[in-house]
Amino acid sequence: MDYQEAKARISELKKIIEESNRAYYVEDAPNITDFEYDELFRELNRIEAEYPELKTADSPTQKVGGKAAEGFKEVVHKYRLYSLDNSNNYDDLRKWYERVKKEYPKEDELSLVVELKIDGLSCALTYKNGELILGATRGNGIAGENITQNIKEIKSIPQKLSKQISIDVRGEVYMPVSSFERLNEENIERGIKEFANPRNAAAGSLRQLDSKITAQRDLHFFAYTALPEDKNIIKTHYEGMKLLEELGFETNPNYKLVKGIDEVIELCKYWETQRFNLNYATDGMVIKINEISKQNELGYTSRAPKWATAFKFPPEEVWTKLEDVELSVGKTGAVTPIAILTPVKLAGTVVKRASLHNFDEIQRLGINKGNEVLIKKAAEIIPKVIRKRENEDMGVYSMPDKCPSCGAELVKTDDEVALYCPNSLDCPAQIKGRIEYWASKEAMDIDGVGESIVEKLYEKGLINDFADLYKLTVDDFMTLDLIKEKSADNLYSAIQGTKNPTMTKFLTALSIKLIGKETAELIANEFPTLESIKNASIEDLIKIDGIGDKAAKSVVEFFNDENNKIILNKLEEYGVKPQGSAYEKTSNIFDGKTFVITGTLSQPRSVFEERIKKAGGKVSGSVSKKTSYVLAGENPGSKFDKASDLGVIILSENEFNLFFKE
Ligand code: AMP
Ligand code: ZN
Repeated sequence: MDYQEAKARISELKKIIEESNRAYYVEDAPNITDFEYDELFRELNRIEAEYPELKTADSPTQKVGGKAAEGFKEVVHKYRLYSLDNSNNYDDLRKWYERVKKEYPKEDELSLVVELKIDGLSCALTYKNGELILGATRGNGIAGENITQNIKEIKSIPQKLSKQISIDVRGEVYMPVSSFERLNEENIERGIKEFANPRNAAAGSLRQLDSKITAQRDLHFFAYTALPEDKNIIKTHYEGMKLLEELGFETNPNYKLVKGIDEVIELCKYWETQRFNLNYATDGMVIKINEISKQNELGYTSRAPKWATAFKFPPEEVWTKLEDVELSVGKTGAVTPIAILTPVKLAGTVVKRASLHNFDEIQRLGINKGNEVLIKKAAEIIPKVIRKRENEDMGVYSMPDKCPSCGAELVKTDDEVALYCPNSLDCPAQIKGRIEYWASKEAMDIDGVGESIVEKLYEKGLINDFADLYKLTVDDFMTLDLIKEKSADNLYSAIQGTKNPTMTKFLTALSIKLIGKETAELIANEFPTLESIKNASIEDLIKIDGIGDKAAKSVVEFFNDENNKIILNKLEEYGVKPQGSAYEKTSNIFDGKTFVITGTLSQPRSVFEERIKKAGGKVSGSVSKKTSYVLAGENPGSKFDKASDLGVIILSENEFNLFFKE
């Protein structure tokens, strides 16, 4: 690139970056993805490094991005707020460390704190003698917006500290992913524009001129910097974090004090995959030099501290082309669309398919083959399509009218968004789906029997329903391509080894509409034998807590269906017989004992219920003379009082756990 080209590109990049800064910081509605932004930013940095004479003070690389929106009072920060330099590869991260280490030649390794980079918006809080007096956004780092009123609506921000000290606190306001999704669902229902991501939702909720709106949103705060007026009370960043916790702030629990860069990189690698299991968005890691004296020596550039850096994860969102829509027919006949994409790298893996949920979703997204779509990595393995490019109209993909597997006319039930293939008996996709599901982890968990084996067995005409699995011989498996004697033996034994499942597994595996593992468990609890379920009426079933009319009806219909009766008879004939209980019993310690649970325990009640039942006990909803024990958590209800009156033994969670000690 020559001088003239560099000059032209710099001016172009500045324009794009400034425009996206405005969209991101002022309007809370980004026009490009974070990844695209970072790429442009790095390109500008690179060109400016090559042509330093073209670097001007007003370049986005020389300042912090935000600006006060209209309507808020501006407030000048007591201590400047900085941005963070970042890299997206481990080489650059090592280079940063080498640069810092050069200043400390005597030390083997420096101590560092590694923490998650929370993707929310940073806020500066000021406390005087333990009282919150000011809350502000970062703005351009020198001045931000006064949002004190709104800050007071966030429950995880204490208005009074546990000690009467004066301190400035920095941290990130964020919205949990689950709350973000709920908010967007509500917005869709009300016809309001959705937020692009949890960060924008947090920013949009916090920067409301009416603090009543902020109060309705589920906002949280992780504190990450302590700036006490009395500088001597902390010597390291780590001590600062402990101080914040002591004062009553929430800190993100995943910070770690380490030595040297190798440990830092290990943590980055760990969180790169684990971040999807968190209920808040993180876009990278922040690495900070621990000693405050060293931080001061290292100092700042005009935009960022030299004593800290960020490592950015590969993008969670990328644009790609929707090449096709594949229709998949599930085990109950539901037809769902799947996006087939031009392969792209997303969060470290190559993605070719994405979920589209259902046809209403396609309508809502207004997409068709050929559209550019933004896809996002979610907690699930398969990513989802978020939106198309604005103004790119290619029409909307039209719903199919025939089943792609059997050609039957599809039907749409009024109360459900799904399209169904009604041909449940002869539709190959449904037949195979049910057999696969029978063998799956969630159901009977038959090792080695997955999609490809089921496909082969079905194509050969060896199986037509899941009961047929049990009549297969070793020789049958040997007729399949690529199956040798050893694996044929294994498949045979794996199948035969599942002839005596718990009632929960058996019920789950039947592929009864609306009955998944959880509901199957609820039913199996009340009706632990096959005979009892076959005889249960809709009325009997809806008495079970958690079973609605539709599920109850579906169960009764299933067991009255002539074809299902044939399959159930076949299962019996082949010796498949569920155990007379919902659970695999692991001990007899609670045989004949009845429990009642009350109050809040450290884990959901279902966890305790399961442990009790696996040990032979029963769980009941109300206390009577027959109750053996009451397991009481925090804030127990009236059941506790009744138990005391009746002289029933009351166990705390700790006491309960003692039963399970070896
Ligand atoms: P950037 O938004 O890329 O300029 O990155 C800097 C921003 O990262 C800061 O202004 C903070 O809002 C945010 N951030 C998130 N988590 C942390 C953390 N643990 N430590 C410091 N900054 C953080
Ligand atoms: Zn079909």
